[in-house]
Amino acid sequence: MQIDLHCHSTISDGLFSPRDLVAHAAAQGVDVLALTDHDGTGGLAEARSAADELGVAFIDGTEISVSWRGRTIHIVGLCIDPRHPELVAGLQAVRGSRLQRAAAIAQSLAKAGVKNALEGAQRHAHNPEMIGRTHFARFLVEAGYAPDVKRVFKRYLVNGKPGYVAHEWARLSDAVGWITASGGVAVLAHPGRYDLGKDLMHSLIQEFRQAGGRAIEVVTGSHTPQQYAIFAAYAQQYDLLASCGSDYHGPQESYLDMGRLAPLPEGCTPVWADWPVAAAA
Ligand code: AMP
Ligand code: MN
Ligand code: MN
Ligand code: MN
Repeated sequence: MQIDLHCHSTISDGLFSPRDLVAHAAAQGVDVLALTDHDGTGGLAEARSAADELGVAFIDGTEISVSWRGRTIHIVGLCIDPRHPELVAGLQAVRGSRLQRAAAIAQSLAKAGVKNALEGAQRHAHNPEMIGRTHFARFLVEAGYAPDVKRVFKRYLVNGKPGYVAHEWARLSDAVGWITASGGVAVLAHPGRYDLGKDLMHSLIQEFRQAGGRAIEVVTGSHTPQQYAIFAAYAQQYDLLASCGSDYHGPQESYLDMGRLAPLPEGCTPVWADWPVAAAA
C-alpha cells in the first residue's frame, strides 16, 4: 500500500492544481493521500472531490511555517478540520505576512542586480498572498539566473545569499495547538533538513511533544535511508508516531516522484495505524 502524507499543489508552491495532483498520485499508485499546502487549506475541497472520483483515500492536511530559535521549522497537520476557527485564524495570520516578506525579498534581489523580481515571482504564484521563495526561484530560472530551482537555492534566497530575508512565522506551540484544536495530528516535517545538531534536535522534539505534537516524518523525499533509521529511533525514544510523505512539488522540482516511498522501518508505529481510511485502502 502506498501512503503519501505530504505534497503541494498550486494553492501553495506545487506545480499541479489540486485535481491534477490527485490524478498524478492515482496514476502513480498512491492509495492514501494527504494534501499539505503551506499555510493554507484552499485546495482540500477540490482534491477530495478528485480523490473520491479516482478511488484514492484522502486526508485533509496543511504544512505550517514556524519560527523556532531563529530557524524555520515546518509542522504538518493531518486529519485537520479546515473549517475550525482557531486553525483558520492561525493560518490566515501566517499567510498575511507573506506579501510583505515578498517585497523585502524583491528589494534584496534588486540590490544584487535582479530587477522586477516581485512582479516576476507573482506571475508564478496562483494566489498572491501565498507567494513564497519557490515562486521567486521559478522566476530566477526563467530570467536565466540559474538552470533550475535546486540551483537557485544554492545561490539565492537562503541565509547569507541575495534574496534572503529573516522572517517571523508562527510559534511552534501555536502551530501545534491550532492543528490539535481542529482535531488533527501534528507532525514534525522533514527533520533531517534542519541541520540542528543532536542537542538542538532533542530540544526541538521535546518542545514539539510538550506542545502536543504526536508524530514525526521518518520517510520523506529529502531523507536518506540512513536518516530513516535515525528518525525512526527518535520516534521510538519519544514515543512518536511515524509518518511518510514525498513532499512532492511537481515534475523536476521534487526529491522523489509520488508512489516511490520506502516502507517505514521496522518498529515504527504508523501515524495512520488507527485511521479507518487507511484500513479501508
Ligand atoms: P518559503 O515558505 O517561502 O520560505 O519557501 C519554502 C519552500 O521553498 C519549501 O517548501 C520548498 O518548496 C522550497 N525550498 C526551500 N529550500 C529549497 C532547496 N534547497 N531546494 C529546492 N527547494 C527549496
Ligand atoms: Mn514548498
Ligand atoms: Mn517543508
Ligand atoms: Mn512540504
